[in-house]
Amino acid sequence: MADRPVAIVTGASRGIGHGIALELAGLGYDLVINRARDEKPEVVQEAEALGASCEFVPGDVADAEARQRVVDAARNRFGRCDLLVNNAGTAPKQRLDILEATEESFDWVMGINLKGPYFLTQLVARWMVEQRKEDPDRPLRIVNVGSISAYTSSPARGEYCISKAGMAMMTKLYADRLAEFNINVIEISPGIIETDMTSAVKGKYDKLIGDGLTPIRRWGRPEDVAKAVAAVAEGRLDFSTGTVINVDGGFHLRRL
Ligand code: NAP
Repeated sequence: MADRPVAIVTGASRGIGHGIALELAGLGYDLVINRARDEKPEVVQEAEALGASCEFVPGDVADAEARQRVVDAARNRFGRCDLLVNNAGTAPKQRLDILEATEESFDWVMGINLKGPYFLTQLVARWMVEQRKEDPDRPLRIVNVGSISAYTSSPARGEYCISKAGMAMMTKLYADRLAEFNINVIEISPGIIETDMTSAVKGKYDKLIGDGLTPIRRWGRPEDVAKAVAAVAEGRLDFSTGTVINVDGGFHLRRL
């Protein structure tokens, strides 16, 4: 087994996942880096420059064989997994009103954003339970990247909202089930973060943020989310499980 802790980060090629991978590399983690497409992303070299050993495993998290490849890569290369970060996610290909939206888009978004992380977590959790038996003390943790969409209605992308609401429940379920093994499960709930995912609606969100939608009047950055993951990875929340960390500029506050 490798000496350094190992993290699996899905969707680590761009945006929030890219920020998380580099933050973890800086904390001394070795990495299994996943993305959907086959091209090796620059983040591999960037993380290696920070001292991390990296295994790149392309594949669609909605696909069971791809999920198995991700976990096998961690086992074969490093022999351990201390942290799983379920970050890969997608918006619908087309924003369509809930009265027009298609089953095809529902299945596609739910497959990537909910079924994928749900069953990847199952695979990793089974392995973490084995690891716990071998080592009663080593911290083992799971982080799910959820969204303010778990509780905020956007009827033009209902399938996305439902997938993130499902992920919120998934965090509670695994937190409950895995607590006896001292495996902590935390949801990080980003607000509006500047990435490729939000680039198509940049003008709309520039205006909303400028008009005060979020108490902190700026876009979030991938590093904002990555720092919250780092807090978990550094063990700052080890008496918390099933917890939601809002990284949203205060969006979740109700205001009068
Ligand atoms: P992004 O910039 O669009 O990047 C998405 C990442 O996920 C890429 O690495 C992409 O890989 C990967 N990915 C997409 N589909 C995948 C699949 N089927 N299997 C494996 N990997 C896949 O997105 P982001 O904004 O960083 O979002 C990351 C996470 O944060 C998502 O779960 C998203 O729902 C959540 N989130 C984002 C925001 C926001 O405002 N941006 C807010 C709240 C929550 P490729 O590069 O190969 O395509």
